[in-house]
Amino acid sequence: MNFDLTPEQIAFRDQVRRFCQEQIAPYAEHADYTGEFPYEAWKKMGEFGLLGLHLPEEYGGQGADVLTSVMAGEAMGAGGADGGLLLAWGAHTYLCADTLYVHGNEEQRKKYVPKLASGEWIGAMGLTEPGAGSDAASIKTRAEKKGDKWILNGNKMFITNGPIADVLVVYAVTDKNAGHGGISAFIVEKDTPGFSTGKPLRKMGVRSSQTSELIFDNAEIPAENLLGTEGMGFIMTLQTLEWDRSALLAPFVGAAQVGLETCVKYALDRKQFGRPIADFQAVQHKLADMRIYLNTVRMLVYRVAWNKDQGRPLNHLEAAIAKLYGADEGMRISSEAVQLHGGYGYIHEYPVERGFRDAKLGQIGGGTSEIQHMIISRMLTAEAR
Ligand SMILES: Cc1cc2nc3c(=O)[nH]c(=O)nc-3n(C[C@H](O)[C@H](O)[C@H](O)COP(=O)(O)OP(=O)(O)OC[C@H]3O[C@@H](n4cnc5c(N)ncnc54)[C@H](O)[C@@H]3O)c2cc1C
Repeated sequence: MNFDLTPEQIAFRDQVRRFCQEQIAPYAEHADYTGEFPYEAWKKMGEFGLLGLHLPEEYGGQGADVLTSVMAGEAMGAGGADGGLLLAWGAHTYLCADTLYVHGNEEQRKKYVPKLASGEWIGAMGLTEPGAGSDAASIKTRAEKKGDKWILNGNKMFITNGPIADVLVVYAVTDKNAGHGGISAFIVEKDTPGFSTGKPLRKMGVRSSQTSELIFDNAEIPAENLLGTEGMGFIMTLQTLEWDRSALLAPFVGAAQVGLETCVKYALDRKQFGRPIADFQAVQHKLADMRIYLNTVRMLVYRVAWNKDQGRPLNHLEAAIAKLYGADEGMRISSEAVQLHGGYGYIHEYPVERGFRDAKLGQIGGGTSEIQHMIISRMLTAEAR
């Protein structure tokens, strides 16, 4: 087993972190405070090549492997990019562009992937509905074939990039009697007749990402915008889980690193009872816990990525452990980071406050912690039966 990263991976990670510290982090506080999407930062990320990193060069990407993509996500988090921007990055790159690349025919790939990889277009993915979240297979949005069009009716909820997306991958039921096998994926462009979005939802954290409802009222989707084959939609959503459990978690790893660095510095600078608070054992234990979290979550996430790089199918048990541990322990650690800063930790200007609010999404988005527990225990009992 070799835990060494290649010199190229280390150099790239450091380059991305520096780029974000200098070019992207300056937008973070304002974006979080106002809840506005930082388009300028997005453009810079596109120019740097971060919006299609893993996509092949012939479609405008950089051809990076999965682990390198994960390390870029980590470096962006460590470089101080705000959580909302990084959620937008994850949904755009992995839930939308990757699905279009993997399942699109040549015409669809050529039409959409280069524009997404450059950042000229913004992508989104719509699965969740007002009445269907954890039980994603129970979605109700219907797609009916009429002549050379699919007619979509229904609503999607909590869709990242929804109000600003140029193109969306949307899942709908094409055969209501076929269960999982009756769900199909469609490519929806923003100007589609009958398609609109709700107002951006105001959120606790990841505030600069734009989240909204999607409304399909007899929306007319050209027949050629069916993605992949009819009935394959649910399988496509499962394939995106590999990215969900690696690249989309990676910014949390980076945020944990910068959080730890911030806390160490604060603990050494801040004096109470005539001594740096770093001298008190209770504070030292918090720092040690943060470091343990960082090492562990990084290994779990890298392992999911490495597995995908080997061309192996997703190991659902390991992926669920990475998601659950990253989210639940991440929430605890980010709370400790606020605690270590005392009253200052409760104030907006201190990045640990933002980290605490952003961390909460980890326990909800892309499969809640309760659902990860359920997956892990189901697999354990299935193995033992
Ligand atoms: C900021 C944000 C961005 C998002 N972005 C997207 C996006 O881009 N695209 C998209 O499709 N979706 C997106 N989502 C939706 C997200 O994936 C769902 O919110 C999530 O899957 C949970 O679904 P739900 O909100 O309907 O909660 P529910 O499924 O209703 O869950 C409510 C509670 O019940 C618990 N629960 C449910 N079932 C069980 C069970 N069997 N056992 C134990 N407990 C259970 C849950 O864990 C939770 O605590 C986003 C959500 C947020 C908040």
